[in-house]
Amino acid sequence: MTARRLDAAGREQLAASVADPDTVNRWRAKTVRVPGSGCLWWTGAISGRGHGRFWYAPGRVVVAHRFAWAKEHGVDSLAAIEVLGHRCDNPLCQRIDPEHVVASSYVENRREWAIRKQITGSPLGDPRGSRRRARELRDLARRDPLLVAADQARLRALYGERLTLW
Ligand SMILES: [Zn+2]
Repeated sequence: MTARRLDAAGREQLAASVADPDTVNRWRAKTVRVPGSGCLWWTGAISGRGHGRFWYAPGRVVVAHRFAWAKEHGVDSLAAIEVLGHRCDNPLCQRIDPEHVVASSYVENRREWAIRKQITGSPLGDPRGSRRRARELRDLARRDPLLVAADQARLRALYGERLTLW
């Protein structure tokens, strides 16, 4: 279902896609910056888990930040990674940077998630739930990145200054 289970043909196609300027530009066109946020926000299709989905070739879809990773570090690097974790707790984020998207394992990722969810004001504890939150923020980012910034400010007002991860 995801890039984690890419077959050899899929991996080859993904390698060609991340090297293709047109495909990379198509991916980039679905991202925006939001004032006050270090994240690179996805505005394209999203999965049930709130992750971006990117059709890198006809009939071939990948989790968008995995495409971003493969673009930066190569498809072979991606294949060796169990899971990519979001240090910024923003499943829409496409920024390949140690403060945002990092190589992790299922065990480690789950452990970090459980810890950060307990932090007051953590986006992981958003009562909207990760899927609805991602969809709403994605929709706002599509309309106007300033609306995302306003939503983040609203949450900071609700939960206090500890919501600093975004
Ligand atoms: Zn981020």
